[in-house]
Amino acid sequence: MFRALLDRLSAALPSQCAVCHAWPTPVLCEACVARFAQPRPRCRSCALQVPQDLERCGACIKETPPLDLCLAAVTYEYPWSGLVGHYKFGARPGWSMALALLMRSTPWAEPALEAAELVLPMPLSRERLRERGFNQALELARQLAPGKADATLLVRLRDTPAQSSLPRPARLRNVRGAFGVAPGREKEIEGRRLVLVDDVMTSGASLCTAALALRAAGAAHITGLVLARTE
Ligand SMILES: [Zn+2]
Ligand SMILES: [Zn+2]
Repeated sequence: MFRALLDRLSAALPSQCAVCHAWPTPVLCEACVARFAQPRPRCRSCALQVPQDLERCGACIKETPPLDLCLAAVTYEYPWSGLVGHYKFGARPGWSMALALLMRSTPWAEPALEAAELVLPMPLSRERLRERGFNQALELARQLAPGKADATLLVRLRDTPAQSSLPRPARLRNVRGAFGVAPGREKEIEGRRLVLVDDVMTSGASLCTAALALRAAGAAHITGLVLARTE
């Protein structure tokens, strides 16, 4: 309660730019957004950076992933990597609004959010939720689409070791079957357009596993929208 009040208060007060520390500015100042958050050409299916004019990366041409569209606001590198770390582990839910704004400004994100009936955050394991006190994906989803965010439809069926601790090939194995639609609620997914939200996308294994589960429940269209993509 106090935390929420504090966050609302700091959102209303002039703040310091989280990147360059200029003051008073929004949490992300205009100059830093212009300098570090320019859109880059990315694969439409997995948001991997690709050369200009290429629609899809080689891997997605070979095997179409379960996401219809995948969008990343920024690359997980300086200054975003540090910032996301502070956001996630330093419990700064007050930054959610600024980071969600960055995601919304990504090309094609706005129409995807408008067209979606449901915006689903990637669920956090119970243990990590306890550690951090909040699910950053849910905070972002709430800011992106108040009224469409639902944190109860997509659930974690089992806890998995942190993806970041695993080598690439092990990641898909690690999350296989880790996500599912909440029992008895498949009807709410059937025929729907969805946006799946996460903060960081690494190999995409978690997003794809979740998308497969939603697809199996009859989702009509799935867009992945992440704040930062590792490549
Ligand atoms: Zn700045
Ligand atoms: Zn791709």
